[in-house]
Amino acid sequence: MTLLIAKGVSKAYATSSAPFYALRKTSISFPSQGLVAIKGKSGSGKSTLLNLLSGMETPTTGQIFFQGNLLSAKKRPLLGYEGAMVFQHYNLIFGLSALDNVALPLRMRGKGKEKAREAMKHLGIAKLAKRKVDVLSGGEKQRVAICRALVTNPKVIFADEPTGALDEASSTIVMETLKQIAKKRLVVLVSHNEELIEKYADRVIELVDGRVVRDSLPQHGRKKATPREKYRKGVGWIFPFLVRNLRKHAFKNTTCLLSGLIGFSSLLLSLGYMEGNMPAMEEKMGESLTYLQASVSLRSTMEIPGSTLTLVKRTRPTEEEVALCLPGLNNYDAVEDYGFFFPETMVFSCHEEVFEPTAFCPIYDITLTEYGQSMVVAAEPLSGDGLNEAVVNQEFLNKFPSLRLGDELNVSSRSVVTVEGKQNEIFVEASLRVKAVVKEFGFLNTPRIYYSYAGLKNVLANLDLYSDSMDRYSVVEWVERCQADSVYGNYGRRIFLHDPREVATLFQAIEANQNGGEMEILSNVYSLRESFSALSLAFSSSLGLFIGIAIIGLTLILGMASFSSLVQGKKENAVLMSLGASRGDILALYCMEAMGLCLLSSAVSLVFIPVLQGFTNFLLEKEFDIPSLVRIPLASYLSIPYGLVLLVLVGAGLLGLLSSFLPLRVFGHVSLTEELRDE
Ligand code: ADP
Ligand code: MG
Repeated sequence: MTLLIAKGVSKAYATSSAPFYALRKTSISFPSQGLVAIKGKSGSGKSTLLNLLSGMETPTTGQIFFQGNLLSAKKRPLLGYEGAMVFQHYNLIFGLSALDNVALPLRMRGKGKEKAREAMKHLGIAKLAKRKVDVLSGGEKQRVAICRALVTNPKVIFADEPTGALDEASSTIVMETLKQIAKKRLVVLVSHNEELIEKYADRVIELVDGRVVRDSLPQHGRKKATPREKYRKGVGWIFPFLVRNLRKHAFKNTTCLLSGLIGFSSLLLSLGYMEGNMPAMEEKMGESLTYLQASVSLRSTMEIPGSTLTLVKRTRPTEEEVALCLPGLNNYDAVEDYGFFFPETMVFSCHEEVFEPTAFCPIYDITLTEYGQSMVVAAEPLSGDGLNEAVVNQEFLNKFPSLRLGDELNVSSRSVVTVEGKQNEIFVEASLRVKAVVKEFGFLNTPRIYYSYAGLKNVLANLDLYSDSMDRYSVVEWVERCQADSVYGNYGRRIFLHDPREVATLFQAIEANQNGGEMEILSNVYSLRESFSALSLAFSSSLGLFIGIAIIGLTLILGMASFSSLVQGKKENAVLMSLGASRGDILALYCMEAMGLCLLSSAVSLVFIPVLQGFTNFLLEKEFDIPSLVRIPLASYLSIPYGLVLLVLVGAGLLGLLSSFLPLRVFGHVSLTEELRDE
């Protein structure tokens, strides 16, 4: 029975001049049993003929038929199906045991190891089963390789110089083995060892310069097409292989894992910052004694006659006007501003020493019973009945380290008031005993001295002003009488809220009046929040950029890693393909390596991220005085429970797939002949 037919095949290689024929028009048929040896000098075309027969190379002219069917590398490969190859340098898979090597083609076909054990026993190498092939001797390796070729029961085995790297004793054993195999199937052997050929070959074909010059048993077969046997495909072999690859590329993979960890962790932390910074700020911003304060003034516009310009100026609103622009606020006072007589910034002295100008802020309730008790870090009892007590913040003490609780801050302010034509000089003097220190929210905060608004008003109520006609007004009366656009009323009104829950309503009113509204409402804390959110926004968007860069970097690293694994394993991949693995299997193997790494590093970073978040928050709090700025929404995201965890894991898997699949798909071509050519 004819099994394999070469019909007029030749193989030419392109050279700079005329094409070089490694094999010239050759026609040979092979029966389904026996050991056929191809001999000839080095370079005579033996390997070329064998590679054409096995389908590893495509002929320049002519055709190869196997069981009457035309072979084609793409549509009908022989290796890995009805044919198997034995190489001079064995091409075993290092890192696997002998048994696992032999079992590999079986597992690619979805079968177990049992047949592999049997085959090893049959060839007398059962005792090698458990040993790693890396440590076997050459002869042992070659017998394991033959066993692997045999285990799927192929109809033909090709062997290119199988004894080329072996000593005499091992060569004899290998030839005996091949001879035994050849009783039931075709073995095509390339060798230049005359002795062995004479002793074992059933038929000898001799090549000289790419031409058959002798054939000891020429045969003429006819083509008779037999349908090809089908076999089931198995993927179980990929997983142990994957584990071996992960181990084999341990250093590279650890590096990838680490960069993955860094990448995913920074991604999660950035996201946590974006989610957490505003809530953290909102929780913290109430920690300021100015939290319940605002000022309101009316913007009035005046046309300038004969000009296209208009004049905008601020005037003091009436209480009704204030009420109109603060809808929803019920619990507040809209009081006069006495800043003209007791400015917001003044120098003060203490222990005969004069200190830099510092902010003096009126506070509605100096005893802090209404608001601010929780901020007090040190205090003497506060009585709250005059302009003789002060509360300072931590920033104040930091700026003036020589001052402490119980010190008296002396301050005086002189102003000149013209009352109906008569000039009056007004002195306000105060000696403020520091009775409490508060720890306020530190972001952009400045040193402040708080004094009692009521205390100042009492003092001003007892200071008199005289007109030309000797009419007498107290300063408080005078401010109430003065024009809305008078400097004495400081062009506005102070607002003191009494209920912290109404601050949100105040902020709404501020927003409503922000763009071209009639009223200008100013709040210290509101501006603070604005600048914080602007800062945050800028920071978040640059974080977004960094996240993008991190992802691109991660993709590149993974892509490079899987590509370099593939390049490193090119020969091995060719071997796998010659055993029956498809190109898709090889791709899957390397993609899974990258995906596994991605998944693993994302999973590990998810496990450790709470600790990392705690540490980051600790550092950020030291810097910004805001706790829990980073809040990674692990428990629920986009109102999906554990949505973020899922998203990260799925994203990591996709990232791994994308970063490995594309480069491998495009560049990861495996050429069997190039990789498997034995030198
Ligand atoms: P051998 O009989 O030693 O196995 P080969 O079949 O390997 O010889 O090679 C036959 C001839 O073809 C040699 O001269 C070799 O240099 C040439 N040859 C083999 N492969 C290639 C190739 N890929 N490109 C060009 N020349 C080749
Ligand atoms: Mg050769």
